[in-house]
Amino acid sequence: MRGLCLMALALVLAGCATLDDDDAAQRLHQDILTLDAHVDFPLSALSEQDLATDTDLAFDLPKMQAGGVDGAFFVLYTPQGETSAEGYAQAQEIAGTRLRIIRGLVDGNPDKITLATCAEDVPKLAQSGQKIALIGMENAYPLGETVASVADWAARGVRYMGITHWGHNQFGDSSNPNFQYDRGPRHGGLSPLGEDLIRALNAHGILIDISHASKDTVMQALALSEAPVIASHSGAKGVTDTARNLDDEQLRAIAASGGVVNMLSYAANVKALTAEQEQFRTALRRDMGIPDSPEYTMPLEIEIDYNQRLLGMYEIEPIASVADYVDHVDYMVSLIGVDHVGISSDFDYVDDTGRISGWYDATQSAAITRELLSRGYSKSDIAKLWGANMLRALAEAEAIAAHAPC
Ligand SMILES: [Zn+2]
Repeated sequence: MRGLCLMALALVLAGCATLDDDDAAQRLHQDILTLDAHVDFPLSALSEQDLATDTDLAFDLPKMQAGGVDGAFFVLYTPQGETSAEGYAQAQEIAGTRLRIIRGLVDGNPDKITLATCAEDVPKLAQSGQKIALIGMENAYPLGETVASVADWAARGVRYMGITHWGHNQFGDSSNPNFQYDRGPRHGGLSPLGEDLIRALNAHGILIDISHASKDTVMQALALSEAPVIASHSGAKGVTDTARNLDDEQLRAIAASGGVVNMLSYAANVKALTAEQEQFRTALRRDMGIPDSPEYTMPLEIEIDYNQRLLGMYEIEPIASVADYVDHVDYMVSLIGVDHVGISSDFDYVDDTGRISGWYDATQSAAITRELLSRGYSKSDIAKLWGANMLRALAEAEAIAAHAPC
């Protein structure tokens, strides 16, 4: 009986401790400045929905409010197509549309969210209770075969620019070649135009973002850049070996530049599939008659059905969790130090196979803080991870720029 009472008491105390920990994590999360380093949206959904309202997207103003997220880098993402005049024109149209939508959100809600164009604006805006929009560009493809428009993009508020996305482009090689165009590397890293891009970005105080770039591109960009280099959304290959996660040499070189690697939450890069899950996927592809070729592009109606059936994988082994995400943060912090790691959601995938459990949308952002706190990170370290490191890198890029944005 006495044993039972003690057990009950222990359970009550354990319950209290959990509640206290939760409160402490919530308080800390509200106290610090939190910036999500990479937020982008499917373009079709973005065109139809108003981010100032409660949408069915993972990130919008009400979700920032509910999740205690102070600001974000909203991303002008362009998928990689052919490097031709027609391809560049289409890419410019896409980037321009995205910019108009983000500017529309800011201009239409001046009492709620403000565009920050330099690092020093951000803490001031947060103090005033405003949400903060920063702009990043994912894939420099829309620039065409010149870097002349870097100045215009800087003036429009772009504060980081990714060199590539999936598929090589005119500036450099990607970590993931598009087999429609290339079987191996195209340039062996940066092209001569890509080297011009690095210099132009340095000159305008725009951070170079190496997420999605090949290792050669990454190392050459690092050798050339005078400013810190960042990864806006990349994981550690040492934890999950995918083509676009970064190996230890890349992580160390980014830290040596004064840069920041922001961990992404896209599930496939957070946690590797087990052998049984791989077998499930292979069997599913065989059942559905899907060719096992990197050159095959799945038609949308088949992709929807495939993704739905693929969810069966997570009955074998659960999808990546917040703990798996923070395992990457821990790994990177122990390798390169807490001054060079950051947090990004990269929630753009709309299906259930993309997002990790426990951080499904921006309302759950405090879950990351809670996990960091439970692993012994201090308040100042958590603040560094949640944006202070990115602001430091941005301020350094501005300080050395010949044409600084502010
Ligand atoms: Zn991406």
